[in-house]
Amino acid sequence: MMNKADIAVIGTGPAGVSAAITAVQRGKSVLLFGSAQLSAKISRAEKISNYPGLPDVPGTELAAAFKKHLRSAEINITEDKITNIYDMGGKFALQGASSEMYEAAALIIAVGVVPSKPYPGEKELLGMGVSYCATCDAMLHKGRAVAVIADSPDEENEVKFLAEVCERVWYFPLYKDKPSFAAENIKVLDDIPTQIRQKSLSERTLVTNKGEYDVSCVFILRRAIAADTLLPQLKTDNGHITVNRFMKTNVKGCFACGDITGRPYQYIKAAGEGNIAALSAVEFLDAK
Ligand SMILES: Cc1cc2nc3c(=O)[nH]c(=O)nc-3n(C[C@H](O)[C@H](O)[C@H](O)COP(=O)(O)OP(=O)(O)OC[C@H]3O[C@@H](n4cnc5c(N)ncnc54)[C@H](O)[C@@H]3O)c2cc1C
Repeated sequence: MMNKADIAVIGTGPAGVSAAITAVQRGKSVLLFGSAQLSAKISRAEKISNYPGLPDVPGTELAAAFKKHLRSAEINITEDKITNIYDMGGKFALQGASSEMYEAAALIIAVGVVPSKPYPGEKELLGMGVSYCATCDAMLHKGRAVAVIADSPDEENEVKFLAEVCERVWYFPLYKDKPSFAAENIKVLDDIPTQIRQKSLSERTLVTNKGEYDVSCVFILRRAIAADTLLPQLKTDNGHITVNRFMKTNVKGCFACGDITGRPYQYIKAAGEGNIAALSAVEFLDAK
């Protein structure tokens, strides 16, 4: 697997797809992170009426056209969720949920927005009994009880993996079709989590609308991670990354595009910004 590229693009919505295509056209190597199915926000749209040249296109068709374009540009998607980015001064190191590490000289953040507020206590306890990555941190809680909160069925494999390592897994799926698991040490609950508290040095309490659960770690597995959690130096405003009209962020070599830079939330705005972000990243690399 290629773990190093000129530009890392995080997100496979219209912004990330457009950025990757332009960057490759300009001769740069690209690592594109996201789902091979692209963004659910494309395929779930019944009919899109304002994408130029494709009147009333169903979202599934637009997604298929994007995939075809990526294939023809020979761009592969690395199916890994990026959980942390480190600015190494001159290059960026990216950590995937698979625990794989990647490296790039420039970065384009195109992660879209998923409305979700952090739980009270979440940010304070992050890295101290709150984790966003089961693969990375499971072994730290070997033989102990953990809680998992997830907003999509995509995370169910992580739950099974945790059950192999931990003594008990309390699972709080925040989506409609609640799963069942063969492993007896996974308990699926329909409580709504409300707060995380420090109980002792080695224990956290997950508070829900129905009770309290004392665990070694609370794993919070969301489809999107807040931009300033991914890269803490990033300047944000109300959940959006602050950019100028060249899609430059306050971090040298880091660009952002699409919904994550702010409203309006529109396909063509996301794709247009992806194009600008890629051209700016290319200019940045060529000036180096
Ligand atoms: C049902 C629906 C209908 C819509 N209809 C229209 C319409 O008709 N016209 C219009 O202009 N707009 C429409 N929109 C809005 C449009 O979907 C968004 O503006 C657009 O998808 C934003 O593109 P994006 O690339 O910025 O982000 P997204 O499309 O949200 O893509 C971001 C991608 O990044 C991935 N990602 C996030 N974090 C990470 C990470 N850490 N590592 C790896 N990958 C990550 C996500 O999984 C996602 O696939 C609609 C939205 C919905 C939900």
